Amino acid sequence: MPLPVKRWSVLAFVFASLALPSSIAIAAGEWQVIKVDGRDYLSVDNISKFYGLPAEVVPSGAKIQSETVNHPLEFVSGSREAMINGARSWLCFPVIEQDGKPMVSRTDVAKTIEPLVRPHRVPDVGKVQTVVLDPGHGGHDKGQVSRYGAEKDFALDVARKLRPILQAKGLRVIMTREGDYFVPLEVRAQIANRARDAIFVSIHFNASGDDPNATGFEIFSFTPRGAPSTSDGTVTASSVNMQPGSSVDAQSLALSACIYHSLLGHIPEFDRGIKRARFAVLRLAKVPAVLIEGGFLTERGESKLISNKDWRAKLAGAIGIGIENYRSLPLKKQPPTLVADYRRQTKSAPVDPVIQEGSVKEADASLLEVVGRSAFLSPQQASTPAKKSSLESAPIIP
Ligand SMILES: [Zn+2]
Repeated sequence: MPLPVKRWSVLAFVFASLALPSSIAIAAGEWQVIKVDGRDYLSVDNISKFYGLPAEVVPSGAKIQSETVNHPLEFVSGSREAMINGARSWLCFPVIEQDGKPMVSRTDVAKTIEPLVRPHRVPDVGKVQTVVLDPGHGGHDKGQVSRYGAEKDFALDVARKLRPILQAKGLRVIMTREGDYFVPLEVRAQIANRARDAIFVSIHFNASGDDPNATGFEIFSFTPRGAPSTSDGTVTASSVNMQPGSSVDAQSLALSACIYHSLLGHIPEFDRGIKRARFAVLRLAKVPAVLIEGGFLTERGESKLISNKDWRAKLAGAIGIGIENYRSLPLKKQPPTLVADYRRQTKSAPVDPVIQEGSVKEADASLLEVVGRSAFLSPQQASTPAKKSSLESAPIIP
């Protein structure tokens, strides 16, 4: 019977791709895998030669300064911090030294370096007809609050500014919320999962409880299976489970990189990096999904910037350019525009959103149509209609 044979070949393929995660073709002879304490590693030298990219490893404890990075691949011995193509990127596992040679985990080569360096080669990358914009928080959940306003309102405003920019590029836009009400996290992911060829972009602003001086941008996509998230030191038992977001983690990282390079390239904020997390929306979305942290509401200067509507328009514009870059990956068949390219470009032509807010088209499908009104009202609210967006009424000082 031919059927079992066929099945086995499919299974063999599945197992092979699990053993060597992602799309990376590790040809015999090109990669020398070295096992250290049960984990597979590849030397930085090997990685550099494979990609044809100069690499450097700075000593343990050194801080990588974006301004002084001269190599497309820059690692820190003993650390998960790296600079890849000019943007800070966080590895799943620290760089180790074996016989005097710095080594990067095979998981990171397949799941971090490959999608960052060659995102255009990730299967199905750039396939996007619909952008699901997810303004974080809403309603009773204000998010972080600064003296100028609440995260929920700033996030919604950025999404509203971004919508016409994307529509002008021919993309369908769905917002997970259109006003000031709370939408459960799983409902936000469901909306993306029901749309055709969608990507999910969640918009948030940051806060730090212990460091009032913390500033900068960061972006998250779903942590690869079996790896710790950027904020975790160790692998937890649950991290080995397959999650909806696991099947698209490489595409999500590619999207993360496209948006992040544009953000940093257009707006001079501190580079906190491309990170991994198991946030509910990233875990539950079956489509490429990212969560943007567009600066800190707990820091004086940055919270003031975030409260400025022109700055938020610039933020929306930069996210839009990043999404467009992601979409063009399969057409260009080459790596996306990088932070340095954007900086060169913006010197001559600064980014400006093309569309005036007055001409905003309604979203193509409202959340209400998709899930029904009751789904995102808390029980005590359910009988009263959702309140009008507080953005117009709340005092947001520009
Ligand atoms: Zn938030």
